[in-house]
Amino acid sequence: AAAAFDVAVIGAGAAGMMCAAVAGQRGRRVVLIDHARRLAEKIRISGGGRCNFTNREVGPANFVSANPQFSRSALSGYSPQDFIGLVRRHGIAWHEKHRGQLFCDDSSEQIIEMLRQECNAGQVAWRMPCEVRGILQEPEGYALDTSAGAIRATRLVIATGGMAIPQLGATDFGLKIARQFGLKVIEPRPALVPLTFDAAQWAPFAGLSGMAMEARVRTGGKKSGGDFLEDLLFTHRGLSGPGILQISSYWQPGEPITLDLAPGQSLEADLLAAKQGGRQQVATALGALWPRRLADAWLPAMAGQLPPDFGATRLADAPDRALRALAAGIHGWAITPNGTAGYKKAEVMRGGVDTAGLNQKSMEARAVPGLHFIGETVDVTGWLGGYNFQWAWASGVACGKAV
Ligand code: FAD
Repeated sequence: AAAAFDVAVIGAGAAGMMCAAVAGQRGRRVVLIDHARRLAEKIRISGGGRCNFTNREVGPANFVSANPQFSRSALSGYSPQDFIGLVRRHGIAWHEKHRGQLFCDDSSEQIIEMLRQECNAGQVAWRMPCEVRGILQEPEGYALDTSAGAIRATRLVIATGGMAIPQLGATDFGLKIARQFGLKVIEPRPALVPLTFDAAQWAPFAGLSGMAMEARVRTGGKKSGGDFLEDLLFTHRGLSGPGILQISSYWQPGEPITLDLAPGQSLEADLLAAKQGGRQQVATALGALWPRRLADAWLPAMAGQLPPDFGATRLADAPDRALRALAAGIHGWAITPNGTAGYKKAEVMRGGVDTAGLNQKSMEARAVPGLHFIGETVDVTGWLGGYNFQWAWASGVACGKAV
């Protein structure tokens, strides 16, 4: 006979453990299923091993979704303060880094252990490692065919995360189940991911690999676009660093991104001022106002848009028009990536189960009673900075209270 439960949760990651713990502590009989050997690998590697577990300020504006308002209810039902309270009760020391990001002082393992204990406090039954081979809907709920035997549950929660880092066991299981039950899926794509460029287009900048600088990065229109002032990093194949990871979640293939590589400066005014009595060459003047390495790569790369041999021109002889064009190019560099570094390098998946088919309070599929989706599988993608975990906790709690 099949083992019988009130709730089966598939995926013992951030959202799944949170949901199982809350439901279990409400007295529901919960089984938590995961195919991995080690518990919560993504929490373990997160935040460089210290888990950026939330952010001081979290709201729907920190998320990308086809329905930007969907996350509001769950996020307000379980706030960063609520999670901080849980972390405190477990005696885990933490600190704030820049932009409100909260990290463990010691190790992300503490967050995993905390969630494991919370599940055990709710008498959650573990099935791990355990493969789910098939799911059938029955009059009374769901029947699961698993490598640990048959399981029956009145309610089924899908918390299998996104496809980022397949080498850690990430799968598209959640999307497959959504499709099996007729739910719509917003096209999934790698997000919080480095951007790449055609080798020929990138050749002039490849030598800058390893260089970091602050930049303002934008893409898309006012309503659905992104706009970040953060560090970026030059790589052999393109651009990375926090600002680029952020913009990657908004970038549409074929579209350019626009960078201000001298934010807060006015290179036009600075160059024109330096021109007064300037005996030095343009390259030297630019190198005094801007990172020298970048200036040396930039002038030859932009040769087509500047007068011949412009870097070696005496600043005093440089036409104002050309100096303005040089400054404008640096403050508004529009370049079109040819792609991303893919799921192997992505921190998250954007897209996922279309929120239009879900109830925002319970995460239950509107058309499929008893079937819930939480965490990264859902089309709610957070910014870099602890927002993805806060969504996992909040959607997990919302669902755990509803099942
Ligand atoms: P997960 O935590 O990924 O859990 C999904 C679970 O489902 C896994 O245990 C997996 O084994 C299991 N599973 C998958 N497929 C199957 C299947 N077919 N059958 C059974 N089980 C299955 N976010 C932050 O907010 N702060 C950070 O510091 C941060 N750092 C990150 C660093 C890296 C390198 C990466 C890759 C991500 C980082 N993230 C961070 C993102 C964050 O880890 C995820 O958004 C979050 O873990 C999603 O929670 P989840 O519960 O939906 O999925």
